[in-house]
Amino acid sequence: MTTTLTAATPEFAVRNPRAVERLVAGQATSDGDGVKLTRVLTQPLQRRLDPFLMLDAFGSDDAADYIGGFPDHPHRGFETVTYMIAGRMRHRDSAGNQGLLQNGGVQWMTAGRGLIHSELPEQEAGRMEGFQLWLNLPQADKMGAPGYRDIASAEIPELRQEGATVRVIAGASHGVAGAVRKAHTEPLYLDIHLDAGASFEQAIPAGHNAFVYVYRGDLGLDTGDALATVPRQRMAVLANGADRDGVRMRAGAEGARALLIAGRPLNEPIAQYGPFVMTTDAEIFQAVEDFRAGKFGPPPGR
Ligand code: FE
Repeated sequence: MTTTLTAATPEFAVRNPRAVERLVAGQATSDGDGVKLTRVLTQPLQRRLDPFLMLDAFGSDDAADYIGGFPDHPHRGFETVTYMIAGRMRHRDSAGNQGLLQNGGVQWMTAGRGLIHSELPEQEAGRMEGFQLWLNLPQADKMGAPGYRDIASAEIPELRQEGATVRVIAGASHGVAGAVRKAHTEPLYLDIHLDAGASFEQAIPAGHNAFVYVYRGDLGLDTGDALATVPRQRMAVLANGADRDGVRMRAGAEGARALLIAGRPLNEPIAQYGPFVMTTDAEIFQAVEDFRAGKFGPPPGR
């Protein structure tokens, strides 16, 4: 594991932190074959949080909540980023890829012009916890080749500051390059672990959309003139402002763990029908037709 110790350097300092625009609780729902989850980033927020289309949080000690997994289903037009905190999931897809996603690892899948995959638990008991983020692709890349990358926990760069460990899944933080770097939307994806009372700040370009999701403890966001508390299992949408240069946070008395996700908006139309996300209705009809015609390749099965 790459560990970089950094003191907060002026180069990465946040001078004018963003305010909290709103707190979002998400919606309890189920997907796949009855997997219980909380949809934190829902469809009505897709414009606001462009280029991000969805964030699901799942976490349960009860196998009945996850054992069905996500059997064969298609995707087209975007990327799915799955981050496992605990548990084991087997991935198979129509492009012939297979992988085991487990504790602390990430799977970055580019659906591109289309594939069929399954995500099935490889455990019958114990805790399953993690997140799935959907990242949109620019219109020009939506019909590109599907891709798939498994990133083991040990390959995720981490930076350490006093009381803070930050796992840099995508983008860069305090000079530490993440496991994934992408053009166009320049996604930043950090998993931030803070000891009680510890603080952390992250520069974010003013035009990028950004949010924080707290999954352990609670977090105070220093917004310049106030401290906004973000409780556990809440998403804070961070306000954009031309003069705001990042986010500044401090953990409460229990410490905190949170995701910080940001990216440059695509500002393109979003047409979604279930697992297909394109820019026009005509492209959606085409996706459904292509899927029915078997053009996404053979279902991987169990
Ligand atoms: Fe999927």
